[in-house]
Amino acid sequence: MAIFLNEEATFKRVESDCIFCKIIQGKIPSFKVYEDDKTLAFLDIGPVNKGHALVIPKEHYELYMDVPENLLLVWMASVRKVAKAVMKATNSDGLNISLSMGKAAGQTVNHAHFHVIPRFEGDGFRHWPQGKYGEGEALRYVDKIKADLE
Ligand code: AMP
Ligand code: ZN
Repeated sequence: MAIFLNEEATFKRVESDCIFCKIIQGKIPSFKVYEDDKTLAFLDIGPVNKGHALVIPKEHYELYMDVPENLLLVWMASVRKVAKAVMKATNSDGLNISLSMGKAAGQTVNHAHFHVIPRFEGDGFRHWPQGKYGEGEALRYVDKIKADLE
């Protein structure tokens, strides 16, 4: 059975407790840097470096995995647009574009978001430590991951 939604409702996947949904709705303030009908970008309130921005879909999805592919494409295009502007505006040497998925990965706001972080030589922001695979282990991971591709 088809469910017909009005124009506004198709846009309203909103979570009442979500701080980013409140930003989208204008219920709490933010420093917006980019907006289109499906995505929004604003400054992170606790920047790694100044100009650090967050880019989000306007519909509420907790995890990156939850976001439908057509929206994902639009979202990634916004990330690229914002990334180019952040890099130019801050005159940064590089950028990190990152996303944390799930609490164990450090996601603290349950509305999927990409971080766009301007990076400068010697800014002290550190990457993760690197481990090592044991004998034959990398291939076992390859096989397992390939088997789970959809
Ligand atoms: P994550 O830890 O990856 O979930 O990132 C959440 C980010 O949201 C953090 O870097 C926070 O500084 C940022 N943040 C939380 N509340 C706000 C807000 N009201 N406005 C802008 N950024 C926020
Ligand atoms: Zn939300």
